[in-house]
Amino acid sequence: MNLIERPSPWGLLPVSDAHMHFFSHRFFEALAEQKPGLTLDAMGAQLGWQMPPAEPEHLAALWTQDLDRHRVARATLIASVPGDEASVAAAARKHPDRFIAAAMIHPRKWNAANFAEIQIGCLFPAMHCFSMHEDCLRPVFEWAEQGQRAVFVHCGVLSVGVRDKLGLASPFDMRFSNPIDLHSIALRHPRVPVIVPHFGAGYFREALMLADLCPNVYLDTSSSNRWMLYQESQLNLRQVFRRALDVIGPKRLLFGSDSSFFPRGWHQQIFEDQAKALYEIDVSAADARAIFGENLLRIITRGHNL
Ligand SMILES: [Zn+2]
Repeated sequence: MNLIERPSPWGLLPVSDAHMHFFSHRFFEALAEQKPGLTLDAMGAQLGWQMPPAEPEHLAALWTQDLDRHRVARATLIASVPGDEASVAAAARKHPDRFIAAAMIHPRKWNAANFAEIQIGCLFPAMHCFSMHEDCLRPVFEWAEQGQRAVFVHCGVLSVGVRDKLGLASPFDMRFSNPIDLHSIALRHPRVPVIVPHFGAGYFREALMLADLCPNVYLDTSSSNRWMLYQESQLNLRQVFRRALDVIGPKRLLFGSDSSFFPRGWHQQIFEDQAKALYEIDVSAADARAIFGENLLRIITRGHNL
């Protein structure tokens, strides 16, 4: 039994992070392949980041130490380049009560055999230029349905900080980024939890419309939510949470930090800001427990229950 709890405005709270990136050795190798002459050491120097050890188990050990320090019970680790699913699988195999394995999927290169140990499949339609209406998504959702897994779909504004800092081109296509495009496939797979990160990353209204119509759609709260700058009338985090709670309630929000690299490690400030905002709008301790962990643990063990 994992009884790690961290201090919060509600007292000690079990926290599970639904959105962290596992920037493995393989991840950086894949980036290096995209720019001739780029080495891992040069990337580390350019980014000011500590480069990961070669073995994913060793990187997993660094994260367990960091999560221990922050009193975070569990975390979803996202393999953030196609072909890196083995890294997060190794991390979760080594620490099954700590890590939930999630991995980026390129649906046109789908091979279910590589995803046997993955609990959350992550789709980036704008990055890989596919529409959520294409047939190539079918086997991915069937894989999720059969294994009580979740599917994460990045919508809205997509900027990958590490690519920008390394000067790598990001030929993404935003026309594939509207949450409305998930309506049909989410309805066809009502037991598959569909997670839209960052409240839709600029498509807040559309993400709420989708979630209102599809009870299996969940929103993750991760990152700084800089998309709030795009709103016609200015929004703050309290208002975002209030509106989301009014439309979909506390059982379909998943706290996430979007932590990704060392030496920063777990991004504590994201937790502090979101906990403060939720406390200020009088969210109960029971609802805080749901948002900060219980919802995630429920959907990865049981899928979406009708
Ligand atoms: Zn992220």
